[in-house]
Parts: sequence; structure tokens; C-alpha cells
Amino acid sequence: MNPVYLDCNATTPIDPEVKDFFWQFIDEEFGNEGSRTHRYGMVANQAVQKSREQIAKVVKSSRDEVIFTGGATESNNISILGLQEFGEKTGKKHIITSEVEHKSVLEPCQVMHKKGFELSLLPVEKDGYIDPENVKAALRDDTLLVSVMQVNNETGLRQPIEYIAEILNSHEAFFHTDAAQGFGKDIEPLKNPRVDMISISGHKVFAPKGIGALVLRRREFERPPISPIMFGGGQEKGLRPGTLPVALIAALGHASEIALRDHEKRRAICAKFRHKALQGLAPLNPTLVGDQSKVMDHVLNLYFSGLDSEAAMLLLKDIIAISNGSACTSSSYQTSHVLKAMGLSDTEANSCLRISWCHLTPDVDWDNVVDRLKVAL
Ligand code: PMP
Repeated sequence: MNPVYLDCNATTPIDPEVKDFFWQFIDEEFGNEGSRTHRYGMVANQAVQKSREQIAKVVKSSRDEVIFTGGATESNNISILGLQEFGEKTGKKHIITSEVEHKSVLEPCQVMHKKGFELSLLPVEKDGYIDPENVKAALRDDTLLVSVMQVNNETGLRQPIEYIAEILNSHEAFFHTDAAQGFGKDIEPLKNPRVDMISISGHKVFAPKGIGALVLRRREFERPPISPIMFGGGQEKGLRPGTLPVALIAALGHASEIALRDHEKRRAICAKFRHKALQGLAPLNPTLVGDQSKVMDHVLNLYFSGLDSEAAMLLLKDIIAISNGSACTSSSYQTSHVLKAMGLSDTEANSCLRISWCHLTPDVDWDNVVDRLKVAL
């Protein structure tokens, strides 16, 4: 039997309904949405437009504000690097972001820094939260961009998107949020009209990997002044050229519609699982990482004093599949920059396990998990 999959923050399984929909556009409706001369192209084009609408609805924007990308990494890169030209033209060369962002935000910010932009890297509190007052204090007349993630991938902690939006109501800076972990799950913050750019990842919301979106919301009729970082056939308003992967796009649209419809139901299922997991693991007395009043219902980051997380994952690998940090950087074996920003030492950070699940996750034999972990403690 396969281990129970408890790594939904790394990637979610595909929703069975989404899978059927996806195959329809692989098998039958395989047209190029750019083909204007026949039915196949038209059907594909309609599917793409419908998907835009389905995504836009989740964040209360309009369908022409949605562009498709290869995933949240690409959306983050376009949002940040795409502002270089505008920043240089206007002399706005200051960027605010946080220490706990995903590398796909931090690294493009570092690239901007090398190009002469100043960076303010906001710290987090011990509980993992970015104090919105720190955003306010960091703002300057020449601040071009504020990029703060909606939900942290390692801790599941919700950042104060709505508070930051409120602060930015009296400032011109563009507001970008990496919503890879929150889109379709934590609905309200992304509807805020002051959030200018939203990065979305298909494979965190029960659609396949390799598809994402970027919402570029108009402010007083004007789209954020993003310049393309790739060039070619002019698709996606020239901002993300390349033939559109219609099946992936249709799947993401369908997944978004289902998420909007079912997010409350899913959340309730996840909350029950969380309760059972906490009860099951209680004999080991773990410390919960991050302010639990702000954490999503499908994530636990747990610190076990004296545990070597690599050894623990090996001990558990035939019963549960879990992680000890961000999968995207796991090849480099670096201690989590997120946990370190929260004040954990290297040893403490390497004693943490991340467990993340979803509404499709089956029950876990927690007694068995506890018995195995005892060996590692
Ligand atoms: N941002 C966050 C917060 C993420 O968790 C991830 C995925 N680990 C990404 C960005 C990258 O998303 P994608 O895989 O779609 O490029």
C-alpha cells in the first residue's frame, strides 16, 4: 500500500472532476485557440475564455485581467521583473518584500537589486506574521512594488493582505501577492481591489502542474505597467507569448470554479483532519510552529525537540509522505529560510516536520506514526 500523501502544500492531487475535463481537451478538443479558421480553434478559444472567467470570479476581477502562465514561479517573475522598465522610467526604484517569501519572489527581487533597485526585506515576528505596520514604515515616495505572499507554503500562515491593501490605499506602489497557497482556499483577501497582481498555481488547487495565472487588476482603468520578459507570438497581451496549453487552462478554470463552490466544505473537512492529527500526535508533545490562529486548516508545521527531520521522514516513509520544508528548494538541502526568519536555530529548524493535507486525504493511523517517531526522538 502507498503511504498516505500528506504533502499537499508541495502539490495537490488532481480533482477527479478536473481530470475528466482535462482529458476531453487532450483527446477530442485539441485545437489551437489561436486558429480562427475552423471549429477546433473556436472550441479551444471558448474554453480559454471560460477559464479566464472562472479564475476572475474567484478573485472578483474581470476575465481580461487574467493571463495564463506556466505556474506561480513564472507569474512572480513577470510581476517583479516586468516592472523594471517602469521603475527606471519613473525613478521608482524601491521594492518591499518579506524574508519568508518563496524563492520565486526572493530571487527575482535579488535580480532587481543587482539592476540598481533597493530592497527592503521585512522581517517576521516569532509567530511568522508580517506586521503590517512594518510595511507602512518601509514605504517611501519611490516605492515601486510591495510583494507579500498570501499564505506561507511552509507554515500555512496567512499574511495580512487586507491590512497591507488598506495601508496602500494612500500610496501608489503596486501590490503583488504570491497566492500559490491561498487561491481558491482563502477567498476574501484576494478580492480586495487594491491587490494589483495575483500569482496563481494550478497544481496547488487540484489542477495539473505546468499551468498558472497572473491577475493584473486595473486600477482606475489602468493595468499595472508590466513589460514582457519573454517575446514571441504576442499571446496573452504580449506578456506571456507562446501557444496556450488549452487542456491545462481548461483544467485550471474548472478547478477554480469548483474551489469557489466548495472551499468552505473542503475547509471543514480539513479542520476535522487537523483535529485528529493534533490529537494523534499529542503524546509526542510537539510545538506548533506559527501563530495557529492565522494558520490554514490543512497545514501543520511541527517542532519536535531533538528530532532529526530527515531521519524521521525515512522512518515514516512507508506510512505517510511528508516534508520538512519547501519542496522547491529540497534539492539544495538548505535549512528552511522561513523557519530561520522566525527565529529558529538551524538545529530547531531541522527538527520540524510539515504535514499538509486536503479534502481528499484518507485517514491516518496516528498511533503508528507516533510509535515510529518515538524511535527518532
Ligand atoms: N509560491 C509559493 C508560495 C509556492 O508554494 C510555490 C510552489 N511550491 C510557488 C510559488 C511556485 O509555484 P509553481 O510550482 O506553480 O511554479
